[in-house]
Amino acid sequence: MTDKVAIITGGSRGIGRATALAAAARGFRVVVGYANNETAAREVVSVIEASNGKAIAVKCDVGAESDILALFDAADAFGTLGALVNNAGIVGTTMRVADMSAERIARMMAVNVTGSILCAREAVKRMSTRRGGKGGVIVNLSSVAAKLGSPNTYVDYAASKGAIDSFTVGLGHEVAGEGIRVAAIRPGLIDTEIHASGGEPDRAHRLAHMVPMQRVGTADEIANAIVWLMSDEASYVTSAILDVSGGR
Ligand code: NAP
Repeated sequence: MTDKVAIITGGSRGIGRATALAAAARGFRVVVGYANNETAAREVVSVIEASNGKAIAVKCDVGAESDILALFDAADAFGTLGALVNNAGIVGTTMRVADMSAERIARMMAVNVTGSILCAREAVKRMSTRRGGKGGVIVNLSSVAAKLGSPNTYVDYAASKGAIDSFTVGLGHEVAGEGIRVAAIRPGLIDTEIHASGGEPDRAHRLAHMVPMQRVGTADEIANAIVWLMSDEASYVTSAILDVSGGR
C-alpha cells in the first residue's frame, strides 16, 4: 500500500479507467486525466471515493503542453507523485499510408508520442532522486501494433507505439540511477471503445480468432499488469516491455 499520487492520463475510460480503479484499490491517490468526457472521469472518481479512496479528475489533452503542465500542477497539490501511467492514446480510422494527411499523422504523434514524452519529463523532474525527489515509476502504453506494424489499418499508430518502445528502453536507462523505473505494456486486442473511435467497434472481436488464446483481453487484464509494474513487486524491472496479448 502507498499514499503516493498516481497520474493516469486518459483515466476516464477503457484501460485507463480500469487502471485508475486498480491503483486506488492499492492505496494510490489517483489523478484521473481525461480529454473531453468529464462525465466519465467524474464517474471514476465517484467509484474510487465510494470505496474510501482518493481521486480527482483533471482535464488534460496530452496533445497540448499547457494542459500537461496544469495536470502536474494539480497532482502536486494532491500529494507526492509516485507513478505516472502514460495511457492516453488515439487511433485513426482504417487507412493506407498513401491516403494519410499530414494533419492526421501530426496529431497521432502529438498525442501518442510527444504527449507521453512530455508527461514523462514532468514526472522525472518530480521523482528523480538527483533533483531531490523520492523516486517513482513510469508505465507507458505501447501496443503489439509496434511489432506487427498494422499494415492497411493504421501504420501511423503502429509507428507511434514503436516510438514508445524505444522511449521506454532509453528513458529507463537514463533514470535507472535516480530511483525511477520505466516500463511499458504492449496490449493485444482489448475490449474497449478505442476500436469504435477507429470506425470499427467490433474490430477486437472480429480478429479474436488470430489470437493464440482465441479471445480478446479485458481492460482489467491490462490494468493488473500495469499496477504490478507500479508496485514494489516489480522492483527490479526497468526498461522492460511486457506483452499482455494472449500470445499475439
Ligand atoms: P479508449 O477506450 O479509447 O480510452 C481512451 C482514453 O484516453 C479516454 O480516457 C480518453 O479520454 C483518453 N484520451 C483520448 N485522447 C486523449 C488526449 N488527446 N489526451 C488525453 N486523453 C485522451 O482507449 P483504450 O483502448 O483504453 O486505450 C488506452 C491505451 O492503450 C492507448 O494508449 C492505446 O493505444 C493502448 N492500447 C489499446 C489497445 C486496445 O485494444 N484497446 C491495444 C493496444 C494498446 P475521454 O474519455 O475524455 O475521451
